Amino acid sequence: MEFGFIIAVDPTDKRDRKDIVWRCHCRCETEFELPATHLITSSTLSCGCIQRESL
Ligand SMILES: [Zn+2]
Repeated sequence: MEFGFIIAVDPTDKRDRKDIVWRCHCRCETEFELPATHLITSSTLSCGCIQRESL
């Protein structure tokens, strides 16, 4: 599933409160983990590289 510039790769065994934490892959090749809620609400559309680019 793609969300903005990131792709949700696999759900992990981790939980953030009740959210499943997903392993995500950004277009800049960075891997990071993000709770499902963040994906759905699109509050995080990248690993942070987008903000860095816009600066
Ligand atoms: Zn990135």
